[in-house]
Amino acid sequence: MNHPFRNIARSSVALCVAGLAGAAMAAPAADAGREASVPRTDRHDWIVPGGDTDHTPRMIPERAEAPSGRVTVLRGGLVFDTQSLRVAPGSVVMQGERVIAVLSPDSTAWPADARVIDVAGKFVMPGLIDMHVHLTYPDNATPYDVQAEDADGVLRGERNLRWFIEAGFTSVRDLNGVGDAPYRLADWAAEDAIAAPRVFTAGHIITGTGGHATERPVRPSHGPDYAWERNGADAWRAAVRETFKKGASVIKVASHFAPDEIQAAVDEAHRLGLKVTCDCETIYTQMAVEAGIDMIEHPLPRTDRTIAEMAQHHTASVPTLQVYQNVLDRAGGFWGSTSRRFTMTSDANFELFRKMKKAGIVMGVGTDTIGDANRMIPNIYIAELKWFVKGGYSIPQALQAATLTNAKLLAMDDLIGTIQPGKLADVIVVDGRPDQDIDALRKVSMVFKDGRMMVKDGAVVIPPHVPVPLPKPSPAEAP
Ligand SMILES: [Zn+2]
Repeated sequence: MNHPFRNIARSSVALCVAGLAGAAMAAPAADAGREASVPRTDRHDWIVPGGDTDHTPRMIPERAEAPSGRVTVLRGGLVFDTQSLRVAPGSVVMQGERVIAVLSPDSTAWPADARVIDVAGKFVMPGLIDMHVHLTYPDNATPYDVQAEDADGVLRGERNLRWFIEAGFTSVRDLNGVGDAPYRLADWAAEDAIAAPRVFTAGHIITGTGGHATERPVRPSHGPDYAWERNGADAWRAAVRETFKKGASVIKVASHFAPDEIQAAVDEAHRLGLKVTCDCETIYTQMAVEAGIDMIEHPLPRTDRTIAEMAQHHTASVPTLQVYQNVLDRAGGFWGSTSRRFTMTSDANFELFRKMKKAGIVMGVGTDTIGDANRMIPNIYIAELKWFVKGGYSIPQALQAATLTNAKLLAMDDLIGTIQPGKLADVIVVDGRPDQDIDALRKVSMVFKDGRMMVKDGAVVIPPHVPVPLPKPSPAEAP
């Protein structure tokens, strides 16, 4: 595809880049083959050496604070390095919200007043990340009249987030939900005001009139007001800005759309530093890849040509195989959608996965918790990892996809996805060897997020409320 406005957009961004920070903001080398008009400006391009940003991909500067407060040590566990895939005995030292050291097992180089937790024989790894959840979608049993209510959505989301943190997830990416509920949950989770993983949310889906997530009749998996039906490139550009304003840290689009609409959305999001992902199929996937989209959700049909172009453009995939297997097992097929005119089989979905792996496409791990799938956490996530292993990943590679690769797809791998000094202390302790047996992930006993103990002995830790003291009268008002 060759859109005349591409070159104009490229030169205006180049000017802005040169004016602000020079070479530090050059497009990543991975984008060398990209044809799209606007180079991706993800978080990494904006972090000056020695600087820091907030814990979101929204590039909000934050003062880097030296870790302070009491040190916590996870002593003597088997520490999984998600970069090298090595498992080695060691102790993880955390202070404030950060990991400050990973020590050899014979070292005790921590302060005398450190809180030392013995995790001998247990598996210590970065918190899991789920790249595709719907925290606020109705359960199958949710009464129809409250399905679209923000209030019900927020409460369901809070409940679901507790299940995620209990299961060892320290970050989730919410790809659409009930009204503004996902944005509110993301804010409260960021403030540690609820027991929850970090939430990266897309907020509203952007689609064309009658597009995916707006099909009639409205079903429990999708409801009114979840998606914005917009038509025309200007409207798609505006929708990206609106979701950005509401607090989106990723943009989610869905079929159907026209080439100029998807191009406008991708370009606008990239100018804002946000990634874009697509819930789409066939010709829409092809258009999205040509527009320079960052990733494609689901195992929906696409041609070999599209797969080859995904590899060429470094378009990632979040295949979500298990949730479609659930649909196939329950209903025998994908029926009744007016925006999804294709058929699918389990074999075809898995074959697509294998083709993408063979083509070298980077794949992240996500579940797509529609219907009652939130209730299936962590089983549905473990099943998804097993698809990865069936498709050629080793178990440690699947765990790497679940942590480091997912962090990269969030543009957050400078802060999460590995256990390393300087990174956020998102650390879980597992009573087993998930690097040998994925099912051991059911035995997460301890979870730290941002250095805070969120789960102990498999249950959420809710710290007691510390009442704020009454204000002291000012001298003038004192009797
Ligand atoms: Zn979904």
